[in-house]
Amino acid sequence: MHKITLINGDGIGPEISDSVLKIIEASGLKIDWDLQTAGSDVIEKEGTPLPNRVLDSIRKNGIALKAPVTTPIGKGFRSVNVQLRKSLDLYANLRPCKNLPGVKTRFENVDLVVVRENTEDLYAGVEEKINENTAHSIKIITREASERICRFAFEYALKNGRKEVCCVTKANIMKLSDGLFLDVFRDVSAEFSQIKPREILVDNLCMQLVQDPTRFDVLVLPNLYGDIVSDLTAGLIGGLGVAQGANIGDNCAVFEPVHGSAPDIKGQNKANPTALLLSAVEMLKYIGENTYAKKIESALFKTLSNGYKTSDLGGELTTSEFTNKIIEYLI
Ligand code: ATP
Repeated sequence: MHKITLINGDGIGPEISDSVLKIIEASGLKIDWDLQTAGSDVIEKEGTPLPNRVLDSIRKNGIALKAPVTTPIGKGFRSVNVQLRKSLDLYANLRPCKNLPGVKTRFENVDLVVVRENTEDLYAGVEEKINENTAHSIKIITREASERICRFAFEYALKNGRKEVCCVTKANIMKLSDGLFLDVFRDVSAEFSQIKPREILVDNLCMQLVQDPTRFDVLVLPNLYGDIVSDLTAGLIGGLGVAQGANIGDNCAVFEPVHGSAPDIKGQNKANPTALLLSAVEMLKYIGENTYAKKIESALFKTLSNGYKTSDLGGELTTSEFTNKIIEYLI
């Protein structure tokens, strides 16, 4: 039986975790969940929103499903998400972005994957104030980090029957930093003859994504462009309630929705569990449970295409009614 760390989060985290666990259980797949609480609810007792036991559990199990965790503002704590990614060296942020049946959006047939570098670029946090009126922020791009993210993107493409990997930079302006990322991409692409390499500048990408996102397959980007573009692509398929994600390293992987803890709807039984459920489906594929992943995914798709939706998607169902509908379609 798989042993998987479960961080059920705070805000709407516990409600949507509950829903996803029920659905997985009803699919017939047995998982030994190692529940690890984190976030604002544990600070008083343990002095930190991310106790070491959580990291130890993920290191030991190698895999985690994570609901959103709030980092309290102004109390001196680093972002739980950033800390998790850094401590476990989860260098690849993977955000598959595909239209969902029954969720009407501007474009049909969107099916692309954003692979974002997660550890460096302008997010390395190397900033200094030069004087009252000037601040510097240093963009760090290394061959090592660029190579592992580009290789990750090509390997993902190969494993998932994708045809093309497109490298997104602004190498015409940042000739040294983005230029290095692009050079490394070209080197790595030579090792993958079955996958077509493509290159695009980030501004052109943004224009084309909002004109016709079906022109793209797998995108690989440095950290900052990846952050911005992946929110854009989430918007293409229906927004935060349905946007899944994963942070993957060589030794561990943490699957989590893109959205935050949504304190405004906490405890009201109205959160959409779809983003966490799709993150869990991707997790099941990652651990080789493809049959169960497909089974759960198709139950979710049937539920949505028959018009059963939570209120963020214009429907009327509560979290628990929506969960029960998915379970009905599993059987
Ligand atoms: P964070 O800074 O923690 O990422 P955020 O400020 O981006 O959080 P979210 O917590 O993601 O904000 O919520 C943004 C809006 O989207 C809120 O109005 C929230 O209710 C809504 N929302 C987020 N996730 C869901 C969900 N799963 N179902 C329904 N509504 C959601």
